[in-house]
Amino acid sequence: MSMLKGKIALVTGASRGIGRGIALRLAQDGAIVVVHYGKNYDAAEEVVREIQHKGGSALTLGADLNIVNGVHDLYAGLDEALEKHTGGNQFDILVNNAGIGQGGTIEETTEQSFDEVLSLNVKAPLFLIQQALPRLRDEGRIINISSAVTRLAFPNFLGYSISKGALNTLTFVLAQHLGNRSITVNAILPGIIDTDMNAGTLQDPGGQKFAAGLSPFNRWGQPEDVADIAAFLASSDSRWITGQLIDASGGSHI
Ligand code: NAD
Repeated sequence: MSMLKGKIALVTGASRGIGRGIALRLAQDGAIVVVHYGKNYDAAEEVVREIQHKGGSALTLGADLNIVNGVHDLYAGLDEALEKHTGGNQFDILVNNAGIGQGGTIEETTEQSFDEVLSLNVKAPLFLIQQALPRLRDEGRIINISSAVTRLAFPNFLGYSISKGALNTLTFVLAQHLGNRSITVNAILPGIIDTDMNAGTLQDPGGQKFAAGLSPFNRWGQPEDVADIAAFLASSDSRWITGQLIDASGGSHI
């Protein structure tokens, strides 16, 4: 498939998990993929090698997104890399995937834990989009990886749920704002996906039963289940879809 041939995609937190799955899938569809990583350079390089082995194009870019300076570092690196590869600084697809999972009830939430979850899950995507705007081509794509916790009430994930709820709001407000450039802004809401974030739950038989039981398909999700939806939202086939919160939980909320 070459739906994304000639497109350049930046995927944050792409060294593992859902981000890795999205990076591999967008590359498979022909995009040049910038594999952003927080700390793990070796894992990000491994993703790039996997893409190149399959005939695709990719490069790594590291930045700590917990601080707004990290966003500036990321775009400084991106500008340099794009200038070298394309002679410009324009790109087409931004996938805001990097995020942290965080448990905690109202009683357990502290100022520090709340700041931490909002910082990476809301503040980073907001400023990543702000800095992307002068670089993103018209008809570009912004895809935010939110969560199905915004539709299922999990009291023991309070701060995390609020952070993803804010990301949903960011999604539809910016969809309105960027419509005049035909840039679409959508969010994907995964349910429980088999990544490091759920390693504890999915290693425990009780956790496995719970995770599978949430979906009518009686299984939990894989990164590819999310990546395939991201590929559609990144493509021109999704041009008439914007400001939407797309469930990727195998129907957990029905
Ligand atoms: P993961 O922990 O495997 O990946 C998280 C990614 O974010 C990693 O690549 C990590 O390097 C990056 N990251 C973390 N802190 C960072 C920082 N300070 N700076 C830069 N990058 C940083 O988890 P995942 O399951 O692949 O999660 C990806 C996204 O999907 C997250 O936004 C998460 O909230 C969302 N999500 C996951 C699930 C799930 O069940 N796994 C469900 C719903 C939503």
